[in-house]
Order: sequence, then structure tokens, then C-alpha cells
Amino acid sequence: MNVREEVADLAGQIKRQLINSQEIGLDAPFLSTNSLNYLKEGPQMDVAPLGEDLYFNSLKELEDFLSSCERCRLATERKNIVFGEGLPDARVVFVGEAPGMKEDLTGKPFVGQAGKLLTNIIKAMGLTREEVYICNIVKCRPPGNRDPEPDEIGMCLSFVKAQISLIKPEIVCTLGRIPAQGLVDKDFKITRDRGQWHHLVGIPLMPTYHPGYLLRYSQAKRHVWEDMQKIMKELGLSDPRGLGD
Ligand code: URA
Repeated sequence: MNVREEVADLAGQIKRQLINSQEIGLDAPFLSTNSLNYLKEGPQMDVAPLGEDLYFNSLKELEDFLSSCERCRLATERKNIVFGEGLPDARVVFVGEAPGMKEDLTGKPFVGQAGKLLTNIIKAMGLTREEVYICNIVKCRPPGNRDPEPDEIGMCLSFVKAQISLIKPEIVCTLGRIPAQGLVDKDFKITRDRGQWHHLVGIPLMPTYHPGYLLRYSQAKRHVWEDMQKIMKELGLSDPRGLGD
């Protein structure tokens, strides 16, 4: 064993002892609960924007932390941060692009026309909106509904990843090009790469078209339905009713 391996092995032994002590009710006085949880659950996905060393125990903690976020220029014009909503331990997390006007006003994701269609897609899958989790890769509305800039996505990315790692879903489904470029690959091309499984720290991720795109090109609905059927298969859901025209 070289020095590096020996130190790693020792760290592993200490970690196991700390967790065992806690499980049999002994205090680990030199470690905070946060640090102990970190040891038990492993690191969340790189939650270190701007060098901050952060650890969140719950979605509520993360949401509270972000409630006064001013890390990027989107903070200046937003009315509300649109954190996301749904079941905190949902089996599926849908990640959209960014809040639009209605979302900015209400603080809720996907409440406009695209949201209605997303709700129908979820129903067609045999689920309800309440039993999944819906959020966006960027939490504040870009003025005039422009696409979020790469640096704005970069600032929010760690928080979306933290959100997903707290929910621990069985599947992540990205809607449109922008969340897939953030979570899968910056060179992701929606027409080329949608419908294929990718992974986000071990969680299967299915990229599909954005419901807003379907409102303009209903021909693409059949592709989305193919993608949803792949998700349904993974989740053991049947009842392929389809999305209609
Ligand atoms: N489009 C998105 O990507 N997200 C929303 O919340 C609404 C519309």
C-alpha cells in the first residue's frame, strides 16, 4: 500500500467508526450533524459555486438559502424565484429551461400553456403532477423570455444538482435543449440526442423536447411519447394512452 492508499484506507475506517458510533447512540462530539450526514450520504453533486462549501439537509433548507440569491443578473428583474414544486421524494424529476412571465409572477414552475401540456404528458404516463417534481435549470426569469446565458446557467447549476441529489429520483427528464446542455453535455443537440439514456451521477436521465416546442410543432409529440414510454418502462408503469395530436 502506498501512502496515498494508506491514508484513504484510514479515512474509510474512521468514517465507518463514526457512522457506527452514531448508530449505536454514541455522540461524535468533534463532528457536526451536517458533517456526519455528509459522511453517511456522500457528497452532494459539486455544490460549490463561487467556492462556497455548502451542504443542504432538505429541499426547504436549499430553498431558504436561495430565497435572497443575487449571484447573477437575473436577480435584478425577477419578481419571484421559481424554486420548483412536487413530491420531495418523487420518482421522476422534470427539469425545464427557465421561468416565463406567469411562473415569475406566481413563483411556480410550468403554470402557462406549456405547463398545461406538461401536466397532460404526466397524466398520460399514469402519474399526477403532484407525485412528480418539476423545476427548471435556471430559477429566475430571463428578461423577455430570452434563453438563459451560459454564466447564468453556471451559477444555478450546482443548486439544481443539489435539488436532484436531495430528491434522489429514479429518473430525471430534461425538457428541451438548455437543461440537457447543462446537465448532460454542453454540445448536446436536441434533435440528435433526445430519447437516449444518459446519466447524472448514476441517475438515469432521459432528454426530450420541451412542451413549448410541442405547442408549435405537434408532429414532435410522438417522439416525446416514445421518450416517455422509455421512462414508464423503467418505472414499471403501463397504460400507454399516448399524447393525442
Ligand atoms: N418553460 C420552462 O422551461 N419552464 C417553466 O417553468 C415554464 C415554461
